Amino acid sequence: MSDCIFCKIAAGEIPSATLYEDENFRVILDLGPATYGHALILPKQHYANLMEVSDELAGKSMILAKKVVTAMTGLLPCDGYNVVQNNGEAAGQTVFHYHVHLIPRYKNDHAGILWKPGKLTDEKRDEILEKVRGKIR
Ligand code: 5GP
Ligand code: ZN
Repeated sequence: MSDCIFCKIAAGEIPSATLYEDENFRVILDLGPATYGHALILPKQHYANLMEVSDELAGKSMILAKKVVTAMTGLLPCDGYNVVQNNGEAAGQTVFHYHVHLIPRYKNDHAGILWKPGKLTDEKRDEILEKVRGKIR
């Protein structure tokens, strides 16, 4: 994709703070970090989102997420991680090139990326089960 910023960063055409690179991915520091150490896993191939990414890269991206956060543990003074992957504008996606956020968390960092729990009513539960259950292939 010629006009995709993450394609250009992943290909090394635009410089980035790169933590790791292999044949399939580049891992960079986010320019607008939620916390200290916030990184992004970018595949070198363009896919808009999780629904489009190949099964192979989807799997590999989670294995790489595991590798990176495992390495960060002990190197950064964090207390946990959020591994976040946004799909669609309504979900906060702003760059439409599949990517995985690795967000180190620190006690009391107030990064504000968690949700306020609602309530699953019996009616909504049954409605959702009726719509989705048995249709995941
Ligand atoms: P999204 O909102 O699509 O899930 O995440 C996009 C992320 O990319 C944001 O956290 C934003 O700060 C980051 N970002 C956007 N443009 C650039 C850029 O040019 N370089 C880097 N390193 N990060 C970027
Ligand atoms: Zn792209």
